[in-house]
Amino acid sequence: MDFPINLNTFEQFLGRDSTSEEFEAWLASKRVPIENPANSEEVIVSQVGWELYEKFFKNYTLKQWKKDPRDLDASVCGRIPIRTNRDDRYLREDFQALPREGYHRMFERMLAASPGVDLILDTDYRDIIGKVKHDHLIVTGPIDEYFDYCFGPLPYRSLRFENQSFGPEQLQERELIAGKPGYWQPAMQVNYPNDEEYTRIVEIKHATGQETPSTTIVREYPDDYAPGKEAYYPIPTPETAALYRQYAEKGADLPNVSFVGRLATYRYYNMDQVVGMALAEFEKLRERYEGRKV
Ligand SMILES: Cc1cc2nc3c(=O)[nH]c(=O)nc-3n(C[C@H](O)[C@H](O)[C@H](O)COP(=O)(O)OP(=O)(O)OC[C@H]3O[C@@H](n4cnc5c(N)ncnc54)[C@H](O)[C@@H]3O)c2cc1C
Repeated sequence: MDFPINLNTFEQFLGRDSTSEEFEAWLASKRVPIENPANSEEVIVSQVGWELYEKFFKNYTLKQWKKDPRDLDASVCGRIPIRTNRDDRYLREDFQALPREGYHRMFERMLAASPGVDLILDTDYRDIIGKVKHDHLIVTGPIDEYFDYCFGPLPYRSLRFENQSFGPEQLQERELIAGKPGYWQPAMQVNYPNDEEYTRIVEIKHATGQETPSTTIVREYPDDYAPGKEAYYPIPTPETAALYRQYAEKGADLPNVSFVGRLATYRYYNMDQVVGMALAEFEKLRERYEGRKV
């Protein structure tokens, strides 16, 4: 079924054609009136009712976060749009795009245009910070790590990715499912909210428009975070918000350190939000250091 929920999903659910008006009336009859949804369960049942919540959100969230939606901040499920038209895009922004040649090339070009920047990869900043002269430090790693976990570690969820590639012959038998030759599935992202161990399969070729008879799919398995793994998602609950606040207050006492991005501010952001945050911080620092060589 289509997801995020839209008119196509409703039609698949009913097994017949429908209209936006009928879907809106149906939702109005199912919504649970909750004025200020306090968690992820409330934010969804207040928009679509229990039936669609159970079908699309409950098990997916349990699998992804290892937490009942009731125990997660409203922002986790609240950021997924519910629409009564046929717009099935994940994000709400009118304009949505990827860099034409991908992020890797974009960063390569930005670095090529910035001769004052030295790039050091595969290095923990704590191993070199004493050797790099600086007036101001911008931290994009985990804020709890920066303060040596002095209030205790902030929890994260991690992911495990499993790639699988298919050549043209193997794809022939998928043509009916994918709806066109050269693809494995009908959309870039197919969610598996209930029975499988993975939460979704992504076939990025749908977004990049690469013209090739082969394809690669990526299965995403939710994973417990442990040191050494990638900390993909902060886990927003009232307890973690309180713990993060302690770190944020400590960070606010350091005028020459900026905390930017999802790990340093312990919050899920999309790329555009993180880029916006970085540009805002840059403007702030430019004003402060204008005329000074840093
Ligand atoms: C599976 C998945 C899918 C996503 N899909 C989308 C999408 O479709 N659209 C979208 O807009 N956004 C998407 N996002 C969100 C997007 O990835 C984030 O918004 C973005 O990466 C956040 O940028 P950031 O710089 O804050 O953090 P990151 O990109 O995580 O960068 C932080 C960096 O700091 C490094 N670091 C941490 N500790 C240290 C240390 N001690 N020393 C040195 N370096 C350190 C990390 O290795 C990492 O490279 C997705 C995220 C995930 C996990």
